[in-house]
Amino acid sequence: MNRDNIRVLFSAEAIAERNRALVQEIAATKPERLLVVAVLKGSFVFAADLIRAMDAAGMAPEVEFMSLSSYLEGTVSTGQVRVLHDVESPVEGRDVLLVDDILESGRTLTYAKDLLMARGARSVRICVLLEKPGKRAVHLVADHVGFTCPDVFVVGYGMDVAHAWRQLPFVGVIGD
Ligand code: 5GP
Ligand code: MG
Ligand code: MG
Repeated sequence: MNRDNIRVLFSAEAIAERNRALVQEIAATKPERLLVVAVLKGSFVFAADLIRAMDAAGMAPEVEFMSLSSYLEGTVSTGQVRVLHDVESPVEGRDVLLVDDILESGRTLTYAKDLLMARGARSVRICVLLEKPGKRAVHLVADHVGFTCPDVFVVGYGMDVAHAWRQLPFVGVIGD
């Protein structure tokens, strides 16, 4: 696979501008003791940019990470989720912002939100870079959405195909 075969869908500049707007949306919710929980691995670039945009907006979030894996039967998701890495600090009483790359079926984010709420978070809001409409398996509405994504497989800006292309500064589509 050649980098030249990857078409830019959302440019680095468009993403940076959208991130600043997302931070304004998030700031308007007036979060207290804000804890950003980034869902690994796909959201690590987005979360890193988001927290620096938060700093520029005068916010001071703490940051934690979760790694979640869907149980597969062959290549089909069973809908069950396993926690591979958990947040390390207590979430009780805190306003949590769950950050992920793409909202598709909604299963992993629903699981993570329910888990953090059960642990006594004051609120859990969801921020995703991309949302693919019409793919939801469970009812879940993201509170903050970067872009609506067409039903294509995207890579870059933290997202991979077979572990490749996370380093691209833009969101792109392979070979079309
Ligand atoms: P779901 O919402 O189905 O629980 O999980 C969506 C997850 O599937 C995303 O966080 C991402 O890891 C993966 N995913 C879905 N669509 C794409 C895509 O177009 N490209 C990449 N790289 N990952 C995707
Ligand atoms: Mg993911
Ligand atoms: Mg992946």
